[in-house]
Amino acid sequence: MAQITIKQDAAIRQMVDEVSSKNIEATIRKLVSFKTRHTLSDTTSKTTGIGAARNWIKAEYEKYAADSHGRMTVQFDTFTQPKKIRVDRPVKLKNVLAILKGTDPKDTRVYIVSGHYDSRMSDIMDPNGDEPGANDDASGTAVSLEIARVMAKRSFPATIIFMAVAGEEQGLDGSEHVAKRAKSEKWNVDAMLNNDIVGNTHGMETDLKDNRSVRVFSEGVPTLAAGNEREIASLISLGGENDSPSRELARYTKETAERYVDQLDVKLIYRRDRYLRGGDHVSFLQQGFTAVRITEMNEDFTRQHQTIRTENGVNYGDLPDYVDFNYVQKVARMNLSVLANLASAPAEPQDVGVITSGLTNRTQLKWDAPANGKKPAGYYVLMRESISPYWEKKFYVTDNKADLAYSKDNYFFAVQSVDADGHESLPVYPKPVK
Ligand SMILES: [Zn+2]
Repeated sequence: MAQITIKQDAAIRQMVDEVSSKNIEATIRKLVSFKTRHTLSDTTSKTTGIGAARNWIKAEYEKYAADSHGRMTVQFDTFTQPKKIRVDRPVKLKNVLAILKGTDPKDTRVYIVSGHYDSRMSDIMDPNGDEPGANDDASGTAVSLEIARVMAKRSFPATIIFMAVAGEEQGLDGSEHVAKRAKSEKWNVDAMLNNDIVGNTHGMETDLKDNRSVRVFSEGVPTLAAGNEREIASLISLGGENDSPSRELARYTKETAERYVDQLDVKLIYRRDRYLRGGDHVSFLQQGFTAVRITEMNEDFTRQHQTIRTENGVNYGDLPDYVDFNYVQKVARMNLSVLANLASAPAEPQDVGVITSGLTNRTQLKWDAPANGKKPAGYYVLMRESISPYWEKKFYVTDNKADLAYSKDNYFFAVQSVDADGHESLPVYPKPVK
């Protein structure tokens, strides 16, 4: 392995250290205590059902917001989900959003971290059974809550939204509503991290145990490019199908999280989600935003979407005793390091292009500084071989252009902004320009 220099920002390191597995465990056990968080479950009881659960989540965020000097505000994102498959009557759904406003009024970027707080059992239409949903997805909800607690006390130039959504099991209903709202209200969502099923470290039938590896799923061809002939033609001709914005976010997540979290191995899965399955990041991809899914390495399907029971000596059910809280802590730290680094960084360079006016064996790139927010100290031009999954070299430049003795025919490039403390923006894959 090539030698790698790890340079940590002390402030981010401190926040990473503050993420507590004890708090995560308490949150997951509390969410389980509501007995069911099924989207169609009771909303009037103070102790059971999705109504009690969402009120508790909101109150918890409000506690953290008290430490934010007024920068964090908490809201229900409420809407009526019409009747459809898996929703047998119109039902009022409430996502919970804790918004930590950025300190730079000119910086409009928004970063979102999300988990779904609804749960289910074997029968997707049964709202009343014991549906603990400890791993799916109290674990992801606990990630959003715990890092909100730590980050509320800090300030960042860009805005971060800590989200717990409903209706995932019924068909991504809650996330679809937020994503469409973000689009229509023109939120400048730069990246969305979806944490769903992030707490189990044991692979069922394979008997694999792994508390180091975490999967990050990212799409290759952007969801929105489907049906756009010009975009598809460009991807085919330039070979950009491995450089969607979401894939750049996935690579960034690996690079940043492994910089801050010990004994963490981020596995990039070059696929939108698991085989034939989906999650809340897809709602954001469908609106044209950059998003990835974070999930444990090995899944235990006796613990997902299962009614609690014993059958042929096998115990079924998504119970908290099977969640590895230290592992969820690692995942939370991973999310925090990525969000903190992004929200501290300058925005991406604009109009990044490869100059194609002459045929040469070199690569000339040019770009503009980000229009708003803090000025970059410089830029990294990232480079990799066409068959490599990760960026391999980076060139630091302080100008808005680079001229490299490597051919654009043989390598892939991207450009990211960086500030004086080393916080990098997401990399931007260039377009051909004259
Ligand atoms: Zn889930």
